[in-house]
Order: sequence, then structure tokens, then C-alpha cells
Amino acid sequence: MSAGSLYERHRAVLPGWVALYYERPLELSHGEGRHVWDVEGNRYLDFFGGILTTMTAHALPEVTKAVAEQAARLVHSSTLYLSRPMVELAERIADLSGIEDPRVFFTTSGTEANDTALLLASAYRGGANQVLAMRNSYHGRSFSTVGLTGNAGWSPTTLSPLQTLYVHGSVRTRGPYAGLPDAEFTAAAVADLEDMLAHTRPAGVAALIAEPVQGVGGFTSGPDGLFAAFREVLAREGIVWISDEVQTGWGRTGDHFWGWQAHGAAGPPDLLTFAKGIGNGMSIGGVVGRAEIMNALDANSISTFGGSPVTMAAGLANLGYLLEHDLQSNARRVGALLRERLEAAARRLAMVREVRGRGLMIGVELVRPGTDEPDARLAALVLERAREAGLLIGKGGGPGAGVLRIAPPLSLTEAEAEEGADLLVGALERAETGWEGGDR
Ligand code: PLP
Repeated sequence: MSAGSLYERHRAVLPGWVALYYERPLELSHGEGRHVWDVEGNRYLDFFGGILTTMTAHALPEVTKAVAEQAARLVHSSTLYLSRPMVELAERIADLSGIEDPRVFFTTSGTEANDTALLLASAYRGGANQVLAMRNSYHGRSFSTVGLTGNAGWSPTTLSPLQTLYVHGSVRTRGPYAGLPDAEFTAAAVADLEDMLAHTRPAGVAALIAEPVQGVGGFTSGPDGLFAAFREVLAREGIVWISDEVQTGWGRTGDHFWGWQAHGAAGPPDLLTFAKGIGNGMSIGGVVGRAEIMNALDANSISTFGGSPVTMAAGLANLGYLLEHDLQSNARRVGALLRERLEAAARRLAMVREVRGRGLMIGVELVRPGTDEPDARLAALVLERAREAGLLIGKGGGPGAGVLRIAPPLSLTEAEAEEGADLLVGALERAETGWEGGDR
């Protein structure tokens, strides 16, 4: 069982659906700041921030120290006991949420955060089991969350305990509203939502769940204000709005601390789910939301590992660093510079259809040169060329598979942004030449 390379052993012992990047997958050894090293000693600039998990920096001393100190004292208690780090982190997140009279519950992943939000919404809505979700969305890996993932490549079953009604309205470059001006796009999406509700029983609909900027779907979103408009329709029916901020939270989008804030003055979502970056790689997920919904469960519940002291210590140190160093402003400033550099290069690259996004959440949509056709192989090719040059980037999944995802740690410096832009542009040029030469 243990013979062969680590890759062969991985393939032999893990299920085949566990996605791996690169023809020769990477084994990382350590990281520091915005860089990681593989076990062969190669250094990479990490433009994917782990998988949007390294929010501040790799091996941030403040987080390492907090984790080590907490681990030396007590690794685990549970939600059955009082825990100071858990209450303190909950208080900080409650204050930052913008939600009135909020409550916070910690989980260990984004999937479980969304599952919990659905459970709460369903309980609040008297057991309703229909959910509105966006096409092209991704919300997790569990039985219920794959069922509301509107991206068949990441949603392997139709047997979800929830019934999902898919709404249009996130993809601006493709789909029914592509090319429409913002106001018309929003009006069409709202009409679609209203129409959908007119053809179902709204009392059976627990929630609408949506990513303010779709992550796996290729860093794409509807116009600003879209969810504010949706919210009015939902509020009329009492349907819960869940904003899945697993990728968009904590200032990543630069202009706003949360992704929902791009959606106008209508106020915060009813429930907001988070994960990925808050623990800087430690497994923290959670839900923050309005007390009446958060309190809707009328049975006892616990989480054995949610709110575990070591992860909470990491979250507190990480969030403290983020706020103290105003990394949201850094994301806005350095993100704008990076985007500008990529946009300038894109004008002369036949395979780049669009550079989009905000802050340090930038998507580069690729098409087969000379066509308007996306092709997942292109993104895979660019990833290989970038890796050879010492740069790690991500790519989308399913219909978003032709999109490069750029989401470095939020402490990225201007010099690193420029260096990374040069490396990425070089990788795009080599991929384009290789593609035309038949290298695919
Ligand atoms: N929601 C969004 C928007 C995500 O991008 C992801 C993961 O990529 C999840 C939920 C699931 O999070 P996890 O992988 O931590 O379960």
C-alpha cells in the first residue's frame, strides 16, 4: 500500500474525485509571507493564497505564536464548556457583521457553515425545504450543499434533501443577461426571481443563498445592487437571504469588508456564512445572523470541533492583524495596480477575454484564441506555465473552468504585485504560443 511516489500513493488511497492541480502535483513544504516552497526547494509567489485561505500571510508570526501558546495550554474543549477565545472571536465577528442583534455559531468548514445556515433558515421557515440558489454557484461538498450548487461539474447528485430552484443573475459575460446594462440586468434577474416565486409556493422556500462574487464559478458577479433588489422581493415573502461570504469576506474585495456591501443600502443579509481566510488556514467556518433566525432551532445542538480554542486563537490573531494593518485598504490599492497591469497586457493577448474583479479577487477569463469559446485546457496550460515561472494561481471549476483565479494574501506588496503580473503575463504569452503550436 505504501510503495511508489507520493502521487501514486495519493491516487491509490484517496477517491478519484479529489481534484489535484498540475500534471505533476505539488507537495508544499513551507511558506513565509506571500511565498511558499515545495519539497524540491522551489519557491513560488502564492497568487492563490492557499485556496483563499491564507488571508494575511503565510507563517504570520502573530498567528503562529497564538496557536502555539493556546496548543500548549489546551487544544480542545467543546461548545459544552465556556471558551474565552470562542466568545471573543464571536464578539468581534458580530461587531463586524453589520447585522443588528447578531448571533454567531462556529463550524469547521464553509460547507458546514452553509449547511448550518440552511438548517436554521428551514427551521425558521417552519420546515420549508426549497432553496433558491444562483446558477454557476458553489456552496460546498455535503449532501445538502452539493444539491444547491448550480455547477454540474461540482454537484454530483440530484438526490439532495433540499429542492433547489436556480435563479439567473450572476454571470455577466455569459448567460441570458450577458451584455445588458446594469439596470436592465437587475430588472431581468428580479423579474426571473418573481416569476419563479409565482410558480411555486413561497411558504415552502426557506432561503436564497448566493455568493456576492462567485468563487469556483470564475470570480464573476451580477451588477452591484442586485442582491439589494432581490432582498426586497425576498423580504415580502419572509424568505431568508444567506450571503455566502466564504471567499468574499474580510476585505478581500477591497472596496468593502463583506461582498454584500457592494449591493447597496438595503442592509445586511439575514445570515452570512464565512470560512476560508478567517483562520489563515486553520479550519474555522461559521454563520453570523439575525437572532430570531439563529435561535430558530428548538432542539439542542453542539459542535465538537467548531469553536475549538486553537482555531479561535488563530482567528483572533489573524483578524487582529488584518484590522490593525488595514489590509482591506491594501487589497484595494494593490489589487487596483495588479488589475491595471493585467488589463494592459490583456489588450494584446488573443486568449484573454476579460480581466475582472475587485480588490485582491481578480478573474482572468480565457477563450480559445480567435474565438469566443472558453476552454478549460487553456487555464490548465497557463497554470503549468506559471508554475514553471514560480507563480501559483487558481482556476475556476465547471462553466468557470476557463477562468484564472487570482487571490493572493491581502498583505501583498506593490513590488510583489508587479513581479507576479510580469510572471503571469509571461505565462499567458507562452501558453498562447504553445496553444497555437498545438501544445494542449
Ligand atoms: N462556499 C464557497 C463560496 C466556497 O468557495 C467554498 C469552497 O470553496 C465553500 C462554500 C465550501 O467550503 P469548504 O471547502 O471549507 O467546505
